[in-house]
Amino acid sequence: MRYAALALMLSAAPVLAEMPKGISHFTLSNGLEAVVIEDHRAPVVVQMVWYKVGSADEAPGKSGIAHYLEHLMFKGTEKMAPGELSKTVTANGGMDNAFTSYDYTAYFQRIASDRLPLVMEMEADRMENLRIGPDDWQAERQVVLAERAQRTDSDPSALFGEEVNATQYYNHPYGRPVIGWRQEMEGLTRDDALAWYSSHYAPNNAVLIVAGMSPPTRSVSWPRNTTAPSPPAKALCASRARKSPSSIRRAGWSAAMRACRSRS
Ligand SMILES: [Zn+2]
Repeated sequence: MRYAALALMLSAAPVLAEMPKGISHFTLSNGLEAVVIEDHRAPVVVQMVWYKVGSADEAPGKSGIAHYLEHLMFKGTEKMAPGELSKTVTANGGMDNAFTSYDYTAYFQRIASDRLPLVMEMEADRMENLRIGPDDWQAERQVVLAERAQRTDSDPSALFGEEVNATQYYNHPYGRPVIGWRQEMEGLTRDDALAWYSSHYAPNNAVLIVAGMSPPTRSVSWPRNTTAPSPPAKALCASRARKSPSSIRRAGWSAAMRACRSRS
């Protein structure tokens, strides 16, 4: 419905690269990079939004904030009540979830293709208008602590893996667990989450992927055209380049530099 008007946004957008048939890659005028993978075998579509930020970008002492914010992204906006996004997806026959890693945080929905505008609207809304209630943040902090207890603290092999990583990458952010160190997770606050959100969640720090029976490629657009301040992606990479012993450079440097290159 909004495709026709918003297709105008694409008119000046450069094509980034030659892609295989059925795959398009372009950047909208608000800086949002988009990849459309057309597949018309079934009337289903997957929408993903990948933010170019993850746990490796966390400040020392704030481990776990990337994953914690991922949880808080389901807490609603001015328009949506806490949990309403997922309930709406489910009520429309779809499913949704999210995940966090060292270099990215991603959100996705799989749904009937005629509901793409619905999930796109909700995803755009929470990209810009997240609201974290005074009670929500503490309850959700308990949820991520419980997740850590279940997946790591109660699993000797997971604990061992954490220690191996911390030793192998001891002067590099890959040495911190994505979920965070427990004692630091316990200190994360609503202000920490909002600061993380306002610094990193913006169209020009994200990649939209639409795969499946999507609308005609050149009509796919984003329901918002605002451009938030450009996140300090290069500064983030610089902060990773700490002085480190040669053993650490051997172990982790190439992966870290690949990550930096991919975000520049
Ligand atoms: Zn989680």
